[in-house]
Amino acid sequence: MKNTIRLWRPALRAQRRAFSSSSRRLDNYAFIGLGQMGYQMARNLQSKLAPTDTIRVYDINKAAAERLVQEMKTQQAGGAAAQVARNAGDAARDADTVVTCLPEPKHVKATYDCILSTYEGIQKGELLTRPKPRVFIDCSTIDPTSSREVAAAVTAALPNGRGKFVDAPMSGGVVGATAGTLTFMLGAPQCLLPRVEPILLRMGKRVLHCGPQGAGLSAKLANNYLLAIENIATAEAMNLGVKWGLDPKVLASVINVSTGKCWPSEINNPVPGVVETAPASRDYEGGFGIGLMRKDLRLAMLAAKEAGAELPLADKASEVYETAEQQDSCKGRDFSVVYRWLGGKE
Ligand code: NAD
Repeated sequence: MKNTIRLWRPALRAQRRAFSSSSRRLDNYAFIGLGQMGYQMARNLQSKLAPTDTIRVYDINKAAAERLVQEMKTQQAGGAAAQVARNAGDAARDADTVVTCLPEPKHVKATYDCILSTYEGIQKGELLTRPKPRVFIDCSTIDPTSSREVAAAVTAALPNGRGKFVDAPMSGGVVGATAGTLTFMLGAPQCLLPRVEPILLRMGKRVLHCGPQGAGLSAKLANNYLLAIENIATAEAMNLGVKWGLDPKVLASVINVSTGKCWPSEINNPVPGVVETAPASRDYEGGFGIGLMRKDLRLAMLAAKEAGAELPLADKASEVYETAEQQDSCKGRDFSVVYRWLGGKE
């Protein structure tokens, strides 16, 4: 049995609720953005839908969409009927639920522009008589302001509650997307939870309801800001200890039962060999790309500025990721590669 956790209702109190298998089945789905995360998420979603359902997928990389549909048809038993769409509007035209998983705010805005302009071409009567409102679930990590702008555009294009846009950024990486164990941070009105949660739980194992639309992204960016700083501090502390002559495994074991313990020290330790399963132990391959970390940090800084929140460490952290990423030996690797950039012993 999978669990749902709501953090906001009305006080910030975690609560668990069982996923009801009797929840109403939705018929037509669109999935747009089939990259490292979206490809696996769409695959999981499709496999858990009924054969009477339809999923239409789209990516500007046509080959990815074709490969995915081929895989859905040949490698997965059961699941919804899968089709490749010509563009985002074509994917979403008849969809009750649209899921988007795109890199940056500009891609999300362009995609929704395309979708909403397709709806403009549909007869008003047809739009208004659809049996249920359309729901748009954006899983991209973007800034809350851009997300609210897109939500407002959806509301304007589909008035009278005919279209609802929610933000559901995720954590768990490509491994979690593949295994269907992602955690989603949901920004949505309470009334949409029964509709949205069962869909997300087909791609993940936990939904954290953070508050109204935009709140999922605020929570995601605050978390990733903290992670950005912890990762650099862990790399610095490990490098310092090694330079002082400490065995890195000994140092990590001390930190991990002491007050410096954090995810980068315990799970994603930046020193090769300290944690066998960490990207550092395989030449920093896989994991959370340094480019994505830099992007999330930039978005957190933007959102902090809008909120008037001081982030004194952010400029330096941003400079670290930017310069590290420019180094050939670090580019495209897991963000813990800042240890290498610092000149850490490998
Ligand atoms: P990705 O770059 O691998 O994939 C993005 C996909 O979007 C690509 O296939 C690209 O062709 C497609 N695309 C771009 N513009 C498009 C458009 N206009 N229409 C249709 N498709 C378009 O990125 P990803 O790693 O899958 O990440 C997606 C989002 O999830 C990002 O916002 C990222 O920050 C977030 N995220 C990623 C991870 C991770 O570990 N990769 C973890 C958590 C969150």
